[in-house]
Amino acid sequence: MTRPRTLGNPERTHSIAALAHDLETRGAEHVERIAHAAADPGGTGDYALVEIIGHFREDAGHRFILATHFDTRPWADEEADPALHDSAVPGANDGTSGLAVVLELIEPLLARLPTDVGFSVVLFDGEELGRPTLGGYCMGSRHLGEQISGGRHPLLAAAEFGIVLDMVGDIDLRLLVESNSLAAHPALVEHVWGTALALGVDAFDPTTRSVGIIDDHKFLTSAGIPSILLIDRQYAAWHRVDDTIERIDPGSLARVGMVVLESVVRWYER
Ligand SMILES: [Zn+2]
Repeated sequence: MTRPRTLGNPERTHSIAALAHDLETRGAEHVERIAHAAADPGGTGDYALVEIIGHFREDAGHRFILATHFDTRPWADEEADPALHDSAVPGANDGTSGLAVVLELIEPLLARLPTDVGFSVVLFDGEELGRPTLGGYCMGSRHLGEQISGGRHPLLAAAEFGIVLDMVGDIDLRLLVESNSLAAHPALVEHVWGTALALGVDAFDPTTRSVGIIDDHKFLTSAGIPSILLIDRQYAAWHRVDDTIERIDPGSLARVGMVVLESVVRWYER
């Protein structure tokens, strides 16, 4: 994951190939790359996007989706200094933390899930392709959602739910219940936050609700796969050039991974 994944960076083709290879190495029976293009509402042109999807246990009778975005933002437009607005966001938290957890979950999920439960890992592109006030974010999940609704991805359409991770590496991690998630799948929200409580992971706050956030989970839900988002939106370096590794706590990544793993395993043991 060391090569750039910044939107518009020509080097990202290597990152995309490496991520697809990574999914194969971790046991995906089938890896799809869905290429398309979307425009920057800010007027810098069209961007080539590629969703990377790995399917695990294609013949399983039950399945779910585990997802995150892998792209990082080319515009640090939350910087106070306008001269930095066209600098790339390193994306240690925003675009990398979720990716790290999702990839590391594959092996323990395969080890612990009943054999009749499979899953698809969806790595969304273009989540960051958008502009404040102009919108246009989440172009990868919008596109994939339309394709799912159009019947072109039956394995994804068969998913019983989706869990999307974004910005889960903060040192002072606090995951509120996000309103769109609660509306999409209240039982799953209750289960995940309840599992965190049972595990003693107090970074999951079941008592506070955040406003609805536009993230990739919304477009999976719209495509008929009720999906929830795990995000800590209170992050000082959001869309700034200091979204760097120093701000990431490996313990936060481990705790989120543990909660997601236990939640999914226990969901299917009920
Ligand atoms: Zn972002």
